Amino acid sequence: MHSRRPTRQIRFGDSRVGFVSVGGGKPRADGTPTTPAPVSVQTMTSGYTHDVDGCVREINKLAAAGADIVRVAVPEKKDTDALKEILPQVKVPIVADVHFHFQRALEAVEAGVHKIRLNPGNINDRAQVIDVIQACKAKGLPIRVGVNEGSIIERKDKQKRMKELGAVFSDRKHGYMLAIMIAKLEEYLDIFYEQDFYDIAISAKSMDAAMVVDAYTEISNRFDHPLHLGVTHAGPKETGCIRSIAALSALLCNGIGDTIRISYANDPIYEVQDGLELLYSLGLKTRVGVDLIACPTCGRIQVDLFTLIQDVRKALAEKIQLPMKVAVMGCIVNGPGECEGADVAVFAGDRRGIIYVQGQKVANVPEEQILSKLLEECLSFQDKVNRGEAKLGEKVVDIVPPDPIGQTGSGWEKIASGLVDKAPTTLTIGRT
Ligand code: SF4
Repeated sequence: MHSRRPTRQIRFGDSRVGFVSVGGGKPRADGTPTTPAPVSVQTMTSGYTHDVDGCVREINKLAAAGADIVRVAVPEKKDTDALKEILPQVKVPIVADVHFHFQRALEAVEAGVHKIRLNPGNINDRAQVIDVIQACKAKGLPIRVGVNEGSIIERKDKQKRMKELGAVFSDRKHGYMLAIMIAKLEEYLDIFYEQDFYDIAISAKSMDAAMVVDAYTEISNRFDHPLHLGVTHAGPKETGCIRSIAALSALLCNGIGDTIRISYANDPIYEVQDGLELLYSLGLKTRVGVDLIACPTCGRIQVDLFTLIQDVRKALAEKIQLPMKVAVMGCIVNGPGECEGADVAVFAGDRRGIIYVQGQKVANVPEEQILSKLLEECLSFQDKVNRGEAKLGEKVVDIVPPDPIGQTGSGWEKIASGLVDKAPTTLTIGRT
């Protein structure tokens, strides 16, 4: 993992919903230093914004799932009118997503929204852009400039422009698109800089994961504004998940990206859940709730592990708030190793489950009792941690697993007695 790329920082929200900072590491205009804010997760509502009750319900559901920022579409005046009723009822910063009609941005600012998103592909009248910049500046609101591949394609002189711009990145598969995105951004951001406005975030989305990696990498070399990462039109969750994670992981591992949105043609709750899991997996966010480890199962399995894992996942998601590590393993091969590194763990064998708490064996129960006993142990461990009697991630006892290979020898004793060469490059478990 590379360290986060320093950017200017933007901050938005209010005292009621709280404030979110995005990016950081570069000093503010007044010289005050900033540190990079944790990468935030955002999503967008799927219902109509003018359906006030439905929109409030959806925003609150997404915030409860862990969304740091929620965006809403405001295609019509009735949507920006609805914002006045929606905003006092939600507990997360709201971004108005504006396309085609700059008036919607002005109305959303007036309604009290926390941030505006503009698309240079469809709001490009200089005077209109300046009006929006001035309205945001007066209220201290940031603007995201989002260039999307689908809405930025040159319609006039396309062949000529493709040739000119493509030559800039002639070594890239997407040279023309990359050049046009950067050219549009430079042109658009010049208007902002002329207005002395720097509260900006940038996005440059495509449905092509490789293009997304190239675009954000080039943009991060050229601009110091925080970056909102995303793969647009990623598709259904089943395939969109891989497409999004492929692009976003590559960028985040290189220190690029300050806020993320995973987009699915599905309930946005999955966007939040998967966005959080991505950040947890990369160590970019402190986990809330259980870190569940489970084996994929194989021909050695002796319990119905797929059902057990799903039941454990649902039960723990409801009842455990601490980021405890819970392992559910199918057999003795990898079971003891994973159990040793977990706070609470079970490994199965012969239609039974052997349960451990921080390395200490606490139960050996038949298959039908594994779920309830594991849950009981997790709850009891959570209580102990909350009372200060135990610490997460602190192993109490080393698990000594039974020798699974029997007389042939698993190697443990041989290694201990010096009969096996311990150097990793020459390790051989030879005959004595
Ligand atoms: S832990 Fe056991 S059952 Fe699970 S995948 Fe590994 S060998 Fe197979």
